[in-house]
Amino acid sequence: MGVEATQKRHRVVVIGSGFGGLTAAKALKRADVDVTLIAKTTHHLFQPLLYQVATGILSEGEIAPSTRVILRKNKNVEVLLGEVKSIDLANKTVTSKLMEMNTVTPFDSLIVAAGAQQSYFGNDHFGAYAPGMKTIDDALELRGRIVGAFEAAEVTTDPKERDRRMTFVVVGAGPTGVELAGQIAEVADRTMDGAFRNIDPRDCRVILLDAAPAVLPPMGEKLGLKAQHRLERMGVEIQLNAMVTNVDYMGITVKEKDGTERRIECACKVWSAGVQGNPLGKMIAEQSDGTEVDRAGRVVVEPDLTVKGHPYVFVVGDLMSVPGVPGMAQGAIQGAKYATNHIKASLKGNDTPAERKPFKYFDKGSMATVSRFNAVCKVGKLEFGGFLAWLAWLGLHLFYLVGHKNRFTTVVAWFITFIGSGRGQLAITERWIYSRLAMEQLQSAKAAGAVGPKPGTPPVESADGEPAALTKEQAAG
Ligand SMILES: Cc1cc2nc3c(=O)[nH]c(=O)nc-3n(C[C@H](O)[C@H](O)[C@H](O)COP(=O)(O)OP(=O)(O)OC[C@H]3O[C@@H](n4cnc5c(N)ncnc54)[C@H](O)[C@@H]3O)c2cc1C
Repeated sequence: MGVEATQKRHRVVVIGSGFGGLTAAKALKRADVDVTLIAKTTHHLFQPLLYQVATGILSEGEIAPSTRVILRKNKNVEVLLGEVKSIDLANKTVTSKLMEMNTVTPFDSLIVAAGAQQSYFGNDHFGAYAPGMKTIDDALELRGRIVGAFEAAEVTTDPKERDRRMTFVVVGAGPTGVELAGQIAEVADRTMDGAFRNIDPRDCRVILLDAAPAVLPPMGEKLGLKAQHRLERMGVEIQLNAMVTNVDYMGITVKEKDGTERRIECACKVWSAGVQGNPLGKMIAEQSDGTEVDRAGRVVVEPDLTVKGHPYVFVVGDLMSVPGVPGMAQGAIQGAKYATNHIKASLKGNDTPAERKPFKYFDKGSMATVSRFNAVCKVGKLEFGGFLAWLAWLGLHLFYLVGHKNRFTTVVAWFITFIGSGRGQLAITERWIYSRLAMEQLQSAKAAGAVGPKPGTPPVESADGEPAALTKEQAAG
């Protein structure tokens, strides 16, 4: 049955099933509204633990439970799988697409929580060789690239090529970069130790580099240095003031502060350097009465998180630009609660948009793990690191992880990895590694009306980093 046919009550459309979208849908559970949550994935994703999927600690299911199942008891919520293609603020509709099916969903109130995506600062071609880490697909591809690099190093007989395969570069020394670099080092030192015959995984180089002069800049100098020293003790090379100017199949080119350029030959590269607001943000801003997007494509919302001229169109989470609110889960959760509170108040006639109190962010702090038993944590003026911070990290992540079963299996997986040295999720498949670029080639070909890849589309890179051009049969199939 179509959405329109069943709607009688106030209709709320929520875009996204991340922290913002899911919080909004849950918060409206007892409200006298009909909610349609539209998302392009079937799951809610706990992004903070993606790096553990990429490095074989957790399986994807543990951090990505089904949105539909989470919300099954929220009888006023309908979950609609599809990619939102357009939003019409004047006619109050959202159009989403699943396969060849287009669905138009009308709304009275709209909450846009479509998040952010990887930014290569205008160098999107870097993405072919240096994937980011935003989705389950990204994490599984990365796992394939990390494990695949060791496998290729074991097979090659060329010492130079072996060194290249054994060099891992993580671009971006924010929390994700720090966590990934630390975990790649631990995979090599602990999990893979003794598992190969021609290479010693402990000989690998893990490089964490950033154009900024510090590790973890938002957490301050003290914690940044703590994390840096811990990583260095684990053998991770930290290269700061180093700007990536090119990424290709063989490695990356880095420009130093003095302008000199140098190469790092490496097979496995990861990009965790920047984010850019979802394009839906720009689409909304353009239809508003003068709301703009910032340089990162995030919507510069009004103090009540709405766009100009549309008091019931809220933008929350990573897609909103609000001074002092970081792109973190808490920002999305609190923004979604604020928006739903106003929608609920409006149902009772208690909401006057012009008189709304501005959204106020409550900073609950931030943290990042550096290695097993070691993390850094900042709560207000309190800054601490080491085992205590790690315990705090452990508790907090378990608390926010959705689903009791997920919490249980995650604890078991952490026990195996942190107390022992094993990792239960080191399987990789060729599809995980090839499919992103293969799909991009297919889409380019489709857009160009041809079967083969569009000229200039980078070749598909295999697990060991070799280009594997898509055959005509594969492209067609
Ligand atoms: C690797 C990583 C580690 C992180 N670690 C931490 C951490 O330790 N602590 C912390 O607080 N924060 C962390 N964050 C940030 C945190 O995850 C985000 O701030 C948070 O997820 C933002 O929530 P959101 O709802 O705005 O967006 P998201 O959670 O990104 O959700 C966006 C949703 O929109 C959907 N969507 C996007 N486009 C469309 C479309 N066109 N049509 C339909 N649906 C669409 C997506 O499928 C998704 O469901 C991390 C992020 C990453 C990537």
